[in-house]
Amino acid sequence: MGPDAIPLSKPDVGPLEMELVQEVIRSGRLAIGPMTERFERLVASKAGCHNGVAVSSGTAGLHLLMQAMDIGIGDEVITTPLSFIASANPIVYVGARPVFVDICPKTLNMDPKKIEAAISPRTKAIVAVEAFGNPAYMDEYARIAAKHEIPLIEDSCEALGTTHKGRPCGSFGRAGVFGFYPNKQITTGEGGMIVTDDTHLADICKSLRNQGRDVFPDSASEGQKLGAWLQHPRIGYNYRMGEMAAAMGCGQMRRFDEMMANRERVARLYMHRLAGTESLVLPTIEPESEMTWFVFVVRLTTDYTVDDRDRIVEGLRLHDIGSATYFPCIHLQPPYREKFGFKEGDFPIAESVSNRTIALPFFNDMTEQEVDLICQTLEVMISRQNLRRT
Ligand SMILES: *Cc1c(COP(=O)(O)O)cnc(C)c1O
Repeated sequence: MGPDAIPLSKPDVGPLEMELVQEVIRSGRLAIGPMTERFERLVASKAGCHNGVAVSSGTAGLHLLMQAMDIGIGDEVITTPLSFIASANPIVYVGARPVFVDICPKTLNMDPKKIEAAISPRTKAIVAVEAFGNPAYMDEYARIAAKHEIPLIEDSCEALGTTHKGRPCGSFGRAGVFGFYPNKQITTGEGGMIVTDDTHLADICKSLRNQGRDVFPDSASEGQKLGAWLQHPRIGYNYRMGEMAAAMGCGQMRRFDEMMANRERVARLYMHRLAGTESLVLPTIEPESEMTWFVFVVRLTTDYTVDDRDRIVEGLRLHDIGSATYFPCIHLQPPYREKFGFKEGDFPIAESVSNRTIALPFFNDMTEQEVDLICQTLEVMISRQNLRRT
């Protein structure tokens, strides 16, 4: 794609973020400082949770939760096959087995009716994902998890600020995780955050992200904290977030409403423009869900094959329009086939949907003209593909 291409996504970082990052640089405190704590409070409060634990990525956050909940070899964790691979990889990191549950074709989230059949005595958690940010069924997952006394982990990496029946994503389970990679609702470059009402769990995660050091209450003396700095009661990791990243996050949170209003505007433009395009299925968002929109993903109807879809995406890219096939099914990725024996046909709805999705450019300052050009080009590519097929 050339220099005038319309990218698939683009971060929205402005002078406020630059100012705050400079403030950190001037302060000389580059790690484990006040910006991280500030950012944790801002994100936790957006998710309606008492605690936030900033980490180096969304993936790191999920990994820490697996460790903190003592999930390991011989255990099973239920999750969705239609997601970014990072929602399942942490299950594999700790030696547990991912048990996938097929999706509902309307919302693209795990079908709540199919979850109970996947629960076994080894099930140690359910990792629920808001696919492309859609929070459908989060309350139902929470109910099923509670009934079976299994913790629900919400991988809300695509849903910061989204609410379902008035309740914020990240708050439905024992803990939630957000990701701040540049294509997410807000970015810190790289980064993530665990949110939870369970302060004990938050403290274990804080210790695990910081090389297994003990976490002290604010009332502890400096001497106590200093003496414990090189004591490591557990094996931890360095999954900390730096102060500069946290500063960028604080700036992004201050601009949250304005940024999300723009995402809503762009999503509406697409919805309106594509409503009459017969070959496409548009995102189905229930009226009880308030979306902050992670990406804008449409899909071809079942008249189209995976090859049709791939040619259309290739055509868009040749016309300088960023486009992607979000997401190939996780269970069909080579390590999942090899390690766990998954194969085509295991989760037919997820596979069928995944073969026909097209992610279109989506970023905050997109103009109506850009949306129109993208949609026109998409329609031309679909028409060309129709001709090739006849
Ligand atoms: C982005 C994402 C992650 C991982 O976040 P990183 O910060 O890139 O590690 C995990 N799960 C889902 C569903 C995501 O979209």
